Amino acid sequence: MAGIEMLKSNETKKTWRPATEMVHGGTARSGFGETSEALFLTQGFVYDSAEAAEARFKGEEPGFIYSRYANPTTRMFEERMMLVEGAEDARATASGMAAVNSAIQCQVKAGDHIVSSRALFGSCRYVVETVMARAGVSCTFVDGRNLDEWQAAVRPETKVFFMETPTNPTLEMIDIAAVAEIAHAAGAKLVVDNVFATPLFQKPLELGADVVVYSATKHIDGQGRCLGGIVLSSKDWIEENLHDFFRHTGPSLSPFNAWALLKGLETLPLRVKQATSSAARIADYLAGHSKVATVLYPGRDDHPDAAVAKKQMTGGSTLVAFELKGGKTEAFDFANGLDLVLLSNNLGDAKTLTTHPATTTHKNLTPEARAELGISDALMRLSVGIEDVEDLLEDLDQALARV
Ligand SMILES: *Cc1c(COP(=O)(O)O)cnc(C)c1O
Repeated sequence: MAGIEMLKSNETKKTWRPATEMVHGGTARSGFGETSEALFLTQGFVYDSAEAAEARFKGEEPGFIYSRYANPTTRMFEERMMLVEGAEDARATASGMAAVNSAIQCQVKAGDHIVSSRALFGSCRYVVETVMARAGVSCTFVDGRNLDEWQAAVRPETKVFFMETPTNPTLEMIDIAAVAEIAHAAGAKLVVDNVFATPLFQKPLELGADVVVYSATKHIDGQGRCLGGIVLSSKDWIEENLHDFFRHTGPSLSPFNAWALLKGLETLPLRVKQATSSAARIADYLAGHSKVATVLYPGRDDHPDAAVAKKQMTGGSTLVAFELKGGKTEAFDFANGLDLVLLSNNLGDAKTLTTHPATTTHKNLTPEARAELGISDALMRLSVGIEDVEDLLEDLDQALARV
């Protein structure tokens, strides 16, 4: 991509481990030699001559053209994520949904078909079901854990397989390698939404996925500040599918937000490890509580998909889902009794947040669709933050006592 090669200042360096890449990867220093990544808050770029402008537009000379296409700060974020993810190329987007929508829309046309797991973040379901239908692209939803259903849904016109794993909010796990094999045999590409696993605990591209997408709004920012997203894949896939679509439809990430996300990545391993260790303790605590009916946590052996978690994830999750004994009344009693834990539908934040999916994030589904996904009126989703776990346990304990 013309205009961004100049930023690969550390192209010849050795490869570091992910936690090191998250601090240093992709950094391109200006002539001032600044320590912290520079924020290039500019829309455009100037040329030394008309000939230079012509050469840059022809792709014969490196350099930036316009920040809807690429920007030095945004490119640093893309480069850092590519190193962390093991991807050849990437495009950063204004939100996670801009990433999902671009990754899917750029590779389909009227008459094509998508197969998707049914347990999806609400807006992702809207894109593959409603937006795609308007464009003449049909979609079949399957229980992602059932490999036979993926296989049976394949049609000659199937172009894309889409999934998120672990899923929101019940933390189901789908075997990425097995689904990738079915997709490839069908001549389709597998797109994985990796938000819940974070870049630390699961590597979809290594497992056979063709494209990985993130909402950087979640753990990557991790401090509740800005929206962002990213699509990562091979150089060829980006060049053939996303490159022109991205330039001309404008889902681009703001350089300011890219800068905040670069700072977020620096501390992602520390935050995610701390939150995951607290989440594991909280899951065990909840499992032993008399007012709790069920606990769903990827790190626990009693999770229905524990074998898949062991196979493809290197850590648990910062999220815990659990059902209270009773229904909506008991769930609301618990939520309203919390002092420290905040009620919010966001996740991956430094602050511990909880939500009642049936009446918030998943309220638009029919009661039947919610039942199919295991979202009962007694279910709560907890996104564990980085506070002292003893304070969190005390808060949960006193709130449960009020139920
Ligand atoms: C939040 C989220 C999205 C959408 O991301 P935004 O940044 O809010 O647009 C997509 N997929 C999953 C799994 C999410 O959690």
